[in-house]
Amino acid sequence: VRISYADLEKIQVLGHGNGGTVYKVRHKRTDNTYALKVVHGETDATVRRQVFREMEILRRTDSPYTVKCHGIFETPSGDIAILMEYMDAGNLETLLRSNGTFSESKLRDVASQILKGLTYLHSLKVIHRDIKPSNLLVDRKMRVKISDFGVSKIMCRTLDACNSYVGTCAYMSPERFDPDAYGGNYNGYAGDIWSLGLTLLELYMGHFPFLQPGQRPDWATLMCAICFGDPPGLPGGASEEFRSFIECCLQKESSKRWTAEQLLNHPFLCKDKKSDQ
Ligand code: ADP
Ligand code: MG
Repeated sequence: VRISYADLEKIQVLGHGNGGTVYKVRHKRTDNTYALKVVHGETDATVRRQVFREMEILRRTDSPYTVKCHGIFETPSGDIAILMEYMDAGNLETLLRSNGTFSESKLRDVASQILKGLTYLHSLKVIHRDIKPSNLLVDRKMRVKISDFGVSKIMCRTLDACNSYVGTCAYMSPERFDPDAYGGNYNGYAGDIWSLGLTLLELYMGHFPFLQPGQRPDWATLMCAICFGDPPGLPGGASEEFRSFIECCLQKESSKRWTAEQLLNHPFLCKDKKSDQ
C-alpha cells in the first residue's frame, strides 16, 4: 500500500530529540500503526544534514534488526517526516527504567540481535556512531532493532574522515577522543562495538558504567576516565563467558576489539544455542 501523509492521524508523542519529534500515528484507511519522525524544515543546517543522512541510510537498509522505513514525506508546513514501523515496547533505556536490570540470558538475546544488526550495517559500510540504549527499539516480543541513523556514516575510501565528534559523548570509544593513542589505524566500525559493550553493561548494572548510580556526568572527568582509566567491567556474580564477552567489546585499543561477526561466535552467545537443543 502506498501511504499518503494526509491519511495519517497523530495519536501521541513517543519521543523528542534533536530538532524533531516522534509520533505514534494511525493510518486511517488500514488502521495500521506507525511511528512518524517529524523534523522541522526550518532547523539549522546540521539538523537538516542529519535528516538527509538518516533518510539515505534508511533507504539502503532492509533487515529484521534495523528499524524499517515506510516512506518519507514533506509535510504541508514544510517539515520533513520519516514514516517507520512502530516498535510497541519503546527503547532499551525506558525498558531498563520500567522493568529494572536485565538478566544474563535476556542480555544474550538482546546482544545477539544488536550484533546481527551491526553485522548487517557494517557489511553495508554503515557505521552507526550512536549506539546506546535509547536508540535501540523494542517490541513486546522482545525483538530489538537499531534505529536513529542521524549521525551515522557511510564509509568511503578515506577512513579518517570518520573521526568527527558526533554521537553521544558518553558512549564514545577512546579512539574517537584520541585516535593516535588508541587506534593508530582508525577503524570506525570498532567504535560501535565499544558503545555496544557500554550499553550491555548499563543494562546489566542499571547505571552508566563510568558513573556511580545517580551521579551526574561531568564531561571532562568522564572523558579522562574513558581515555586514561581502565575499561569498566562486570561486577562479581557474572559468568565467565559474559565477562569475557564484555572484555572483547571494551578493549581500549580499537584493533584488539572483536568485530560484530566475531562476537556473534563468542561462547557467551553460542552457549545458549547448545543448551536449547
Ligand atoms: P533522536 O534523533 O531525537 O534521538 P530517535 O530516532 O532516537 O530521535 O527517536 C527518539 C525516541 O522516539 C526514541 O528513543 C524512541 O523512544 C522513540 N521512537 C523513535 N522511533 C520509534 C519507532 N519507530 N517506534 C517507536 N518509538 C520510536
Ligand atoms: Mg535517539
